[in-house]
This record gives sequence, structure tokens and C-alpha cells, in this order.
Amino acid sequence: MKIEAIETLVCHARMRNWIFVKVLTDQPGLFGWGEATLEWHTRSVVAAIEDLAELLIGEDPRRIEHLWQMMYRQHFWHGQGIVRGTAIAGIDLALWDILGKVAGMPCSRLWGGPVRDEVRTYCHLGGGRMEDFYETPVDNAKRFADLAREAVANGYTAFKSMAVPPTMPIEGQQPVRAAEACVRAMREAVGDSIDIMVDCHARPSPAMGLKFGQALDPYGLYFFEEPCWPECLDGLVMINAALTTPVATGERITHLEAFRDLFARRGCEICQLDITHCGGLTAARRVAALADAYRIALAPHNPQGPVSTAASLEFGFSQPSYIICETVHGDVPWRQDVVDEGFTIDPQGRVVRPNQRPGLGIRINEAEVRKHPFKQELPQRVFYRDGSVGDW
Ligand SMILES: [Mg+2]
Repeated sequence: MKIEAIETLVCHARMRNWIFVKVLTDQPGLFGWGEATLEWHTRSVVAAIEDLAELLIGEDPRRIEHLWQMMYRQHFWHGQGIVRGTAIAGIDLALWDILGKVAGMPCSRLWGGPVRDEVRTYCHLGGGRMEDFYETPVDNAKRFADLAREAVANGYTAFKSMAVPPTMPIEGQQPVRAAEACVRAMREAVGDSIDIMVDCHARPSPAMGLKFGQALDPYGLYFFEEPCWPECLDGLVMINAALTTPVATGERITHLEAFRDLFARRGCEICQLDITHCGGLTAARRVAALADAYRIALAPHNPQGPVSTAASLEFGFSQPSYIICETVHGDVPWRQDVVDEGFTIDPQGRVVRPNQRPGLGIRINEAEVRKHPFKQELPQRVFYRDGSVGDW
């Protein structure tokens, strides 16, 4: 069995261009789907996949670990940069999809699963409508409460919000009080039985992240995400130690050694590895084993497209420490036209039952994808009130 071609199919989905990766074999009808979506880097990732394809054409697609080693280590430069890490991931997912199809079983069964009956999911406020999630101002606590009620009405038992605004490295009480008002309004709207998450998007400095974290600690968040830059490991360690609320991070980490440092220093309680950025399912399984040694939970980052979601779910059905799957369902109204998924979602409670199809269980309607060709992503740029550059 040989790999004959590696193709990319770009699908513009408003905030992101989904990059689907199709690995074709010399066996009639046997191919795999992966995803390598990286917002604002679409052309770079597509080109990186073209470069990697040179290494893989003619190779046996079932030798996944061997091919992963080639993709990560050959051509001199290791594959831990975000563009190449994402390109490797897209191909790696497709290789696992192929292997599942060859074996006639879902990927989670290849890895010894299923380890649970169902996977819990959470949504973003607004379900993925970027205006609701990213652009609801923190001085509008009532809007946060309304969107929280909407998430619960849609069947979710957990949701994520961006209730922490961009702040300069040091600011006073106003943004902290605004964030607190939003979280209080959401908690009052949905009660204690619903899990609320706050994503800081790594906007705060460690000092501000600590202030926000301490102000929100009494509201019992399920997790407090990216309270400072991932590069500020000391800051993450300090904030995680200071709060009762568990800190979550990891979506921007692309190689095993950086996960090791994060875990060994106890920079988080929840690892949000991104399966489509950190080298795919092959690398994700190594990160999971490492996290297990520290009893750190897994909740992969997944605001991307449907193959990324299928990969996260297969991973979740095979990993005991996996706690919840991030999902978006309202980013584009035609999501379900493009993809046919092998798993089922219970609309009450939004839990997922296992995929019964081989591999990742994903079918992509390529004709539908072609209705949404590449478009430049909408720019998301933050400047502080004095004109200096901030983090989105
Ligand atoms: Mg995040």
C-alpha cells in the first residue's frame, strides 16, 4: 500500500478557512481526511503541506509513527513551529483515518477504547457566532447573561465566555470589576449546576491575570483559560498556585518538550492541547501520557472545523483523563452540508455517543466545500487606548 497524493481543500467558514487534508492511496477508494486549520496562516499551511508531501509520496500510509518521525525530523528543521506543526497534524489525522478504514474500526478502538460511554461537550457563548463570543463588550453584563441562558436552552451544561477584556500590562480596578460583573450575571442566570468557563485569550500580564483570577475565584469557574502569555511559564505557575479555580492552557504549545515543562512546573490543571497544531493524534497521545503522569486533565482546543472535532472526540473516547470537548456549532449555517459525521449528539445535554464508522467517521462533501473557496480571514487586531499594540 502506498500514498499516491496529498491534497488540500480550503473551505472559507467566516472567521477561519478550514483546511481539509486528503491523503490518497493506491488502493481504490481508500483515502483519509485530516484538518490543518490555522487562522490567518492558510496559504502558509497549504504550502507547508505541499513541502511535506515530498517526503511521503510512495510510502506506506500504515507506518504512521515512522512517517511522523520523517515529517517532524527530516529536512533538518524540526516540526515544532506552528505552521509545520499544523501541517504535520493535518496529514497525521488523515493517516489515522486511513488506518481505521483499513482495520474497519473507529480510531478510538485502535487505541484500546472506548474508555467511556459518552463525551461531554461545551459551546462558546453564541454557539460560534464570532460577534457574540469575541465582541460582546464586558460593560454589557446583561448580554453575557442572555447568551448564557441561550446556551443552556440549547442543551449545553457547560459554556465558555470571553469575560476578561484586553488590558495593558498594569491597569486599575475597572476592567476587573467589569469582568466580575459579567461572571456574576452569568452565574445568576444559569445557577450552580451549569459549568462556566472564562477564556482570557492570554491577554493579561501575569499580574493582571492574577487580579482577574482572584476576582473570579468565588464564582466557581470550571476552568480559567490562558490567564497570561503561554511564554510566561512562571506567571502560569504563580496563578495556578494562587487560585482554587483550575487554570487551563496549552492551545499554543506545539511540541512535547514544552508540554513537559508546563506540566513539571504545574502551570495548569487542564491541558488544552490542539490536536491540529501539536503534531496530530500521534503527538497528542504522547502528550496525554505525559499529562497522566501529573494527573493533569485533557480538554483539547477545538474551535476549528468538523475533522478537528471528530479527531478530538476519537481521542476523548480513548483517553481516561479527557474531560470535555470544545465545540462550535453556529459559526456557519451550512456546517452540516459540508460534512456527515459518524457520531450522534444528544440535543439534551449535548453529550456525544461514539462514532460507529471506521477511522474518524467523517465524510466530506467536496462539491459543497467548493461553494466556499478561500477568502482572506477577517482581521482581528487590538490596540490599547494609547494606541499601543495589544493581544486579541
Ligand atoms: Mg483559548
